[in-house]
Formats: sequence, structure tokens, C-alpha cells
Amino acid sequence: MRFDLLLMIALFAGSLASSWLLHAETFDPAGLARALPGVLLTGSFAAGAVILGLRKSRRRADRAVQAIDSTNDGYWVLDAQGAFVEVNDAYCRILGYTKAEVMRMKIADFEAVATQDRIRGQIQRILRNGNERFETRHRHRDGRWIDLEITVTAVDRGLLVAFLRDVSQRKAAEERINSLAFFDPLTSLPNRRLLRDRIDRALAGSERSRHHGALLFIDLDNFKVINDTRGHGVGDELLVQAARRLVAGVRAVDTVARQGGDEFVILLEMLSSEASQAGLEVANIAEKGRLALQTPFELDGAVFHVAASIGVALFQGSAVSTGELEQRADTAMYRAKTLGRNRVVFFEEPMLENLAQRTRLEASLRDSLHAGRLLPHFQPQVDVKGRLMGAELLLRWQHPQRGWVPPSEFIPLAEETGLIVPLGRWVLEEACAQLSRWRNDPATQALSLSVNVSPLQFVQADFVEHLRGLIAQGRFDPRHLQLELTEGLVTTNLEEVIQRMQAVRALGLTLSMDDFGTGQSSLSNLRRLPIQCLKIDRVFVKDLPLDAADVAIVSSIILMAGALGLDVLAEGVETDDQRLALQCLGCFKYQGYLFGHPVPLAAFESQVRGGADGLGRSPA
Ligand code: C2E
Ligand code: CA
Ligand code: CA
Repeated sequence: MRFDLLLMIALFAGSLASSWLLHAETFDPAGLARALPGVLLTGSFAAGAVILGLRKSRRRADRAVQAIDSTNDGYWVLDAQGAFVEVNDAYCRILGYTKAEVMRMKIADFEAVATQDRIRGQIQRILRNGNERFETRHRHRDGRWIDLEITVTAVDRGLLVAFLRDVSQRKAAEERINSLAFFDPLTSLPNRRLLRDRIDRALAGSERSRHHGALLFIDLDNFKVINDTRGHGVGDELLVQAARRLVAGVRAVDTVARQGGDEFVILLEMLSSEASQAGLEVANIAEKGRLALQTPFELDGAVFHVAASIGVALFQGSAVSTGELEQRADTAMYRAKTLGRNRVVFFEEPMLENLAQRTRLEASLRDSLHAGRLLPHFQPQVDVKGRLMGAELLLRWQHPQRGWVPPSEFIPLAEETGLIVPLGRWVLEEACAQLSRWRNDPATQALSLSVNVSPLQFVQADFVEHLRGLIAQGRFDPRHLQLELTEGLVTTNLEEVIQRMQAVRALGLTLSMDDFGTGQSSLSNLRRLPIQCLKIDRVFVKDLPLDAADVAIVSSIILMAGALGLDVLAEGVETDDQRLALQCLGCFKYQGYLFGHPVPLAAFESQVRGGADGLGRSPA
């Protein structure tokens, strides 16, 4: 009886809220916004109480859930870890997933600000404060962002109850109004709207004059990490300084604009009418921009390193539309990212196919992570006698339509979207499970496993805790787990990074610096890092022993490592000559096709059981 009454109150409050909201779009949004939280709060609180209370009474619970399911408002109950306890159909509909799928996911899988920490922090805050109302964006299954208005209430036993509403249409209207302004409030640069207008005019101008022009898309690598770890104040300041540097590097006729987020755009006009000359002029300016952003930034008393990926699209005349031109520059920028960042890439026709693919790719990567279509592969690491020491875990993605997608394509995408965080967690879990299984078998129990860890993953506040949990649960020697970090990490905030590395070391893990020699970390920094091993990047190995410069680089890396008491391992070893050269220079650990390609678990294990000879020196 009491439950039925509560249910009625809840539904009444909910429907009241719905009808008010409908009017809100036409009448008095501000007034309504003030009244709304109370209404929604009553509704969600009561409904939450109903659902939770009714758990005891199955029949009534079913009815209550049915009733909640039939509203248009999304509804969920969440536990303190961000896992769903209950969701209704409307919420699943808004996001395009089935209920069963949503129940397997976590709230962080949908959120724009996808870091576990931030969500956990928010959950803790709401549990303390009782309730909160805010707007956020969740990603629809098809990749679109859905603007949601959420009212969350903390109820009994650390649970959260929320009502959500799709406000995408209202946001779109607001955006139209906002875009009436022409300048970005943070950097005072022209905004997207003004930029488009200038591109339109530049195209028309070029049609008359036959001068070339160019559009440059610039994305700040590392920005996400800094913004996530140091807060928005520092992130904003970084954008302001970056804007100043870019403006300083162009001519008065050129336009520097901010697209939003960490994306800047430069429009160059009146370049040479001769294509190759125009190309040179642009390359020059783009390179200047890249170098300007590469100079360290001083923010909030600390030094930060940022690099830029720059995509360039040239134009002459107006055969290509403004939208197409933007697409081209964006595509080239994305290519710059996948090629390893901190570089300038010019657009070429064949890249176009990639753009549409990329959006689809992102959505299906998200799905694949949950559907188990990411497959760890294992590549042997051997010692100077060719004996197997362990393996590096390298991911392969079995895409439902495209087949096999290499990590060089999906890891940058995952980093850009934040998906690398749940993905990286999963890889670590897989690695620990694998080490535990190997532990039981004399043939495999001595093997170690190296796992790649992305900067964004490493700086998550719960990274060390997560590892600690895995090690506590696992049945393996933590010294057999090795994390491969990249120099990109070291350029963000050295003190914090060092502390965290020490925490990881204290767990017994080994740390190595991946791709050594390609990044921008300095020697003095390197000395302070609690790492045990340098991995010599394969670009330096490729032309051994004939390329004198590479011989010099590799030998100085090895000498330096020796002086710092570090181990070295060379990657990309493909020939016996390379291996011999490395051995002569003092490097005694190797990885590369000479000893084996990355292969699925079963194949790797059968190589192991085939004995050290089975691994042999011959390519797989
Ligand atoms: P990486 O960490 O530098 O991995 C080594 C790459 O070199 C692998 O490419 C491997 O297949 C390739 N390789 C190994 N031996 C040879 C050789 O003898 N010759 C040549 N030419 N190449 C060789 P792969 O598997 O395509 O991985 C590319 C990158 O993707 C990795 O570079 C790593 O940065 C990233 N990656 C892969 N799996 C993960 C992961 O689980 N997490 C993260 N964060 N990144 C990953
Ligand atoms: Ca690696
Ligand atoms: Ca590497």
C-alpha cells in the first residue's frame, strides 16, 4: 500500500516535470529551470525509493519497473562504483543500446568526460551532498553525442538514482544563438562561424586571383592529459598561450581561429599561384607553428610539453567547398596523429575515405571492447643466447566488417576519445590473468609479460590502486609484469609521474621506457626516473649495421643506459646482422621478427613448448 502511494507520487511528479519541460522550450526557460530541480528531485527520489523498497515484493516491483519503463525520461540506479543496478527502456532508447548491453557497461562508457576518476569523484560528491542537477553528454551507440539533463539523488546504501532527459534539440537551438557571436570568449580568436565565413570569402578570392590558399588544422597532443590532471584552469591558460604563439607566427592577412576544444585552425591566403611554390610557403608556416608549440609552456609554476599534429589542405579557386576543405584538413591532421604526432601532414585524395570511416570506427571500437573482439597477441623477447624471456602483449582488433585493424590505427583513436582508459585497464587485467595461468605450468612459469601503458591511462588517479588489486588477486610474481611507458608521459608533470612510477615499483613491477630516442624527454629527466630498462626504438635498428649515424645513436643510448644502470632491449630486430651489431655494441636483449612475429596465445604457447629452438632465429 505504502509503495503504491509512493509510486503514484513519483509518476505524478515525473509527468508534471515532463509537461513543464515541454513548455519550457516555448515559454520561460529560465523560470522553469529554477523550478525544475525540485520537481525532478521529488520524482527521482520517490521513484528510487519505490524501486528499492519494492525489491522486497516481486510483483509490485515488476509493476513499478514497468511504469518507470513507460515514461519518456531516462532512468537509472547506479552503485558507488558507477555500475548500473537498474535502467529503464527510455534510457536505453536514448543511447541506442539494449537493456542487457547497458547493464553490462558502466556509466563511464557513455560519458564525454570519460575518466573513471572524474566520475568517481562526482559520485562521491553527490553521495555527500544528497543531490545534483547538471547537463552532460553521453555517446549514442552510433557515435553521436546526446545532450542530457540529469538530476541525480543519493538514496539509501550508497546508491544513486537519476532521471535524464535528452535536451539535444534545446542545446542545438542555444548553440545557434551563441554562434551569433563571432569570437571565442577564451582566446578572443575568431570562432568557427567567423572562420567559415572567411573561408568562403577566401575561396571566392582565390577563384578570381588564382592565388593558392591553405587551411591548417592544428590539434594539441597531450592537451587531454594536462587538462585531466591539472584542471581546467591550467588547460585554459595553455590554450590562451598557444593561441598567442600561433598568431605571432602568421601574417596579418591570415586568420587564426579556434574550433573549440584543443583544435586551432589557420587560414592562409594569397600564397603563390604556382602549386609547388605555394606548398613550400605553407610547409614553412606550418613548421613554424609546430615548433612554436613545441617550446615548453610555463603554467601554474610548472613546465609542460605539448606537441602539435598539423593537417594541411591546399586550395586554388573554389572547386572545393568550405565543408570539403575542412574535411580535408581534418583528415590530414588525423593522419598526422596516427603517424606519431608532432608533425605536419598535407592532405592527399586517398585519405578522404578515412574520415567517414573514423567516426564509424570509433563507435565500433567501443562495441568491440565489450564484445571481446580485441585480441592480445604475444611477441617473444629473447636474451643474447636466443632464449625466451617473455613476451610483449600487442593488441589486434578483429573488426566485424573491416577484418583485422592494426593498433597504429585504433590506439590513437582510443587515446583521442579517452577510450584508451577502459581499454588499457582491460589489457592489464588480461595480462595478469595470463601470468597467473602461466604460473601453473613449468614451461611458462618463468615468462614475463610487457604491457603498453598510454600516458592518459597512467595518469588516472586510480591507476595504482587498480594494479594493486590485480596483483593481490593474481597468482604470479609481480616482477614478471613489465609496464612500457612512453616519453610522452614524462613531458607532462615530472614530479607526479615520478611519484606514481615509484608507487608502481613498490608493487614489484618493472618499468621500461618504450620507443626510446624518438620522444623529447631530456637526459636529466631520464636520470630521475625509476625505470629499469630502455627499449631502443626500431627506427634506429632498421639500418644497422650500415648506417653510421644509427650505429652512433644506438651505441650512445647503450652507453648512457650503462652509466645509469639501466637495461636495454632493442626492438624491430629483423636480421642476424642487426642482432650481431647490437650485441657488439653491448645490447643483449632483443625483440623482432627475427625471433617471432606477434601471434595469438595458442601459437605463442606452441612455440614455447617447441623449445627455445622452436623460437629459433628464423622469421615466423
Ligand atoms: P610498440 O610498443 O613500439 O610495439 C612494437 C611494434 O613493432 C608492434 O607493432 C610490433 O608488431 C612491431 N614489430 C615488432 N617486431 C618488428 C620487426 O622486427 N620489424 C618491424 N618493422 N616491426 C616490428 P604493432 O603491434 O602494430 O603495435 C603498434 C603500436 O601500438 C605499439 O608500438 C604500441 O605503441 C601500440 N599498442 C599495441 N598494443 C597496445 C596496448 O595494448 N596498449 C597501448 N597503449 N598501446 C598498444
Ligand atoms: Ca611497446
Ligand atoms: Ca616500441
